[in-house]
Amino acid sequence: MADLLADLEPVGRDGGTGGFRRYAWTRDDHELGSWFEAECAARGLAVTEDRAGNQWAWWGDPDATPGRAVVAGSHLDSVPDGGAFDGPLGVVSALLAVDRLRSRGFVPARPIGIARFVDEEGARFGVACAGSRLITGKLAADRALGLADADGITLAEALRSAGRRPDDLGPDPQALARIGTFVELHVEQGKGLIDLDAPVGVGSDIWPHGRWRFDFPGVADHAGTTALADRSDALLGLARLVLAARTAAERNGCLATVGKTRVQPGGVNAIPSAATAWLDARGSAEEAVRAALADLTASAAADGGVITEESWTPVTRFDRDLATRLATLLGGVDQPAPVLGTGAGHDAGILARAGIPTAMIFVRNPTGVSHSPAEHAEPDDCEAGVDALAAVLADLASDS
Ligand SMILES: [Zn+2]
Repeated sequence: MADLLADLEPVGRDGGTGGFRRYAWTRDDHELGSWFEAECAARGLAVTEDRAGNQWAWWGDPDATPGRAVVAGSHLDSVPDGGAFDGPLGVVSALLAVDRLRSRGFVPARPIGIARFVDEEGARFGVACAGSRLITGKLAADRALGLADADGITLAEALRSAGRRPDDLGPDPQALARIGTFVELHVEQGKGLIDLDAPVGVGSDIWPHGRWRFDFPGVADHAGTTALADRSDALLGLARLVLAARTAAERNGCLATVGKTRVQPGGVNAIPSAATAWLDARGSAEEAVRAALADLTASAAADGGVITEESWTPVTRFDRDLATRLATLLGGVDQPAPVLGTGAGHDAGILARAGIPTAMIFVRNPTGVSHSPAEHAEPDDCEAGVDALAAVLADLASDS
């Protein structure tokens, strides 16, 4: 585990923060894909790509008996200044779980796959889980191709620079049809397992969550010569939105965060002519999130703000029977492993919504901190995660 994570450490590392900036369709991303391919090749696993560029490594032939494969995987990209575990832990654990099964002489009755999803975090183009949304048809190819990053480079242009054909993008029912069961192991992004005193747990559901863009208009002018009364300052509306988000979340019992903003022209001595804020809102109840959003829409409208919904995902419930089966397998009948929900979105959620029996395994995070260089998982807990994933793959791939 340590060796594999160490291999990835130089990729997309930010020297200043110690975090990672691994964004979709960049040179770093290409390196991550090559690393995955090499690790799979070293294990004699053939790697295929679907129409979104997600990678699938196969132990056994998934097309010999379609719809029966047991697939484990996660992503390798990161948020800005993300941690080392969010994503990579799931991919690395899947590789190690396969090693473990093989060293035991296990012979799967079903094909076993390892998936590496692209653009899970949406850090560059703004849509989370873009890779899994594209193949399931939840993100239309023409909309995806028009998404632009902070430098104005569209996804279509980014794909072309990465030597890919934008026309390939689209739903991939054939890739999905191979999967019988999908299991994503992920570092927990909260403190649930600390409170439960358990190294691993099983996912029950993903909270409803969404992302919205707020655009505030203004007029650029000189900061030293324009009287306050004559100004149209775009940033004032954005500032009010940030404060209103906190109040709306508290009032409605959900979470709301403005974590990304853009101000134009961005000069110290210029009055902002345009300001854009991205809001992330989620909660255990959809009504609470929608109520908070209604509050914010009203508050932004008063400042001339225009709101655009960039993504919305209702509550996602993982397959209940599968979760029970995993919890029992991992903890025993008398004391099954804990089953818990999460506020974080995952490719597993997108696949579950597409009707694929899906489960998640969470590995304890000693501080609960994620999307930060401080994110951590203890080596013993990571080992427990690999043990758990190996046991789950063995169990599911033994079904004839
Ligand atoms: Zn993740």
